[in-house]
Formats: sequence, C-alpha cells, structure tokens
Amino acid sequence: CGIVGYYTFNVQRDLKFVLDCLFNGLKRLEYRGYDSAGIAFDVVDAYPLTQKLADGTQAVISEENGVLESVGPLIIKEVGKVDALERLAYETIARDQLDLKREFRSQVGIAHTRWATHGPPSVVNSHPIPSDPEGQFVVVHNGIITNYNLIKDFLIKHGEVFQTETDTEVIPKLCKFVYDRLGERVPFPKLVMEVLKKLEGAYAVLVKSTHYPGELVACKRGSPMILGIKEVPGQRRTSFNRLHDATDTKWRRESIECFIASDASAVIEHTKRVIVLEDNDVLHLCGGGYGIYNTQGDNVEEAVPRVLLTL
Ligand code: GLU
Repeated sequence: CGIVGYYTFNVQRDLKFVLDCLFNGLKRLEYRGYDSAGIAFDVVDAYPLTQKLADGTQAVISEENGVLESVGPLIIKEVGKVDALERLAYETIARDQLDLKREFRSQVGIAHTRWATHGPPSVVNSHPIPSDPEGQFVVVHNGIITNYNLIKDFLIKHGEVFQTETDTEVIPKLCKFVYDRLGERVPFPKLVMEVLKKLEGAYAVLVKSTHYPGELVACKRGSPMILGIKEVPGQRRTSFNRLHDATDTKWRRESIECFIASDASAVIEHTKRVIVLEDNDVLHLCGGGYGIYNTQGDNVEEAVPRVLLTL
C-alpha cells in the first residue's frame, strides 16, 4: 500500500502534470502490494488572493486581480490496478470536459493504493475517503486505526452516517466534527492535531479540505512518509518557524513544489532534496512554504527542525 501527494504554490503547472505525478508515484509504490487505488485533486486559480489570518481578518496577499476559480475536489477510485484507475480518471476528465493543458498557480493532489484491513476491497471502501458528500475533508490513510470502533460509535451518536466499512472513515469525519466545533479560525494543522489526539494505531495520512483550499496537511505515526522539496530559484525562505507563520502575508510571493510519498522511490524523479518525517510529525503545506510540527513536542505551535537531505 502507498501514499502519494503533490502540492505546488506559484509554480505554474497544468492538470496533466499533476495527474502524471500522482499516477507515476503510485506505480513506483506498486511493489508494496495493494488491492485498489484512488486519487483526489483540486486546482485553484489565482489563489490565494486573500487569506484568513489567525485573528479572523482577511489579508490581501496577491497583487493580481485574478478571479478565484476552483476545480474539485474530484475523487476517482477503482478496484484493481493503477492502470485501470488511470484510464477511469482520463475518462472522467473527458466527460467533465476539464482542460488538461490549463495551467494553475496552486494545486493539491493526493493518491493512494489500498491494502484492505477493514472492509473488503470495493470502490466505496477505497481511498480517498470524504467526510461527507461535499468532500469538506478528504483523507488517504495507510495503516490501522485500532480504536476506530469507539470513535465511530461516538460520531454515529452525533448523527454521522458512515458510508464505508473502513477504519479510515473516522478520520475525515472527525476532522469535520472538530472543524464544526472549533470554527473556521483554526489553522489547518492545528485542527488535524486535535483529531490525532483521538486516534490510536498506526498511520500515514494526507488531508485536504475545501475549507483550506490550496493547503495540504500530512501526518504519520508508525508508517513511513517522505517529503520531497523542489526548491524554486529566487525564493527567500520556504520553512515556517511557527504555526502562525503559515498565515503571515509577507511570505506569499514565494514558490514551492512538494512531493510526498511512502518512500523515496516515488519522489526521486522530481527532486533529490528530501525530509524523512518522524513519528508524530504534522506537515503543513501552505502558501509558499512548509512547516513541520510534532504533537509530542514541548510546544506544538513551534516548528521542529528536520534535516533536509540530499539523496
Ligand atoms: N486500514 C485502512 C483500510 O482498510 C487502510 C489500509 C491501507 O493501509 O491501505 O482501508
């Protein structure tokens, strides 16, 4: 089983490029074994023009007068081989008349091969798994959430209706539950940290959300995860020092392109600069930068230093 993620900000890429990254990545991870596969992506044009700051105000962070246009999230899943998923994806794109050559400034894509542990291989049990029909939170997960039954009972009592037989579905649903209670001011990684407090077991997880367009959060405990960073010439600084730096307007002109995967084989064709994420790390990709926090650290708001290796 495996996980692949793609993220870019201010690096102009077309949809075909993003799909190639996801599918090539999944194919490199095929040797790990799987029974089904899926992808989810969205593309956001001229984003962000404005960004919510931690105090709830809006800040203008782009001087361009673009129009915010977003495609997605589109979730495509299939039982069987990655090749079959790829065919289905291009059929879906043709049917929806999406322009594969159109370039977007900000893009997020997540992909997954599943080795079923809870619930048989089926399209509905395949990942990415959404929190609800609108896909407010969409998750891919490798591993097992051992206490999912307790969380599932809790969420059912609060009116949630589960669509899959997986342990994974508690993750997007908990994200939505926490978001509905903490409100839209909570930074994305902080929200995910609240969810992680409730989870037991092993996981490598990617989360994307319509509430945080153009952002991606990844976290891991007991399952491997690697971040590949393609440094774009001319940028000043790409890493966040603190959680709130992610909403700091002065960083908005930076560019970054990131590749996340279960192992380096799916990253190496894009970049040789990688960070091996450690257990309990929470990675936030936002604007032109990344921040890594650790839920077991002294101060979860403070970014933790991680060595940027050159392979
Ligand atoms: N436990 C999850 C499931 O059965 C994830 C399995 C995996 O690691 O692929 O859906």
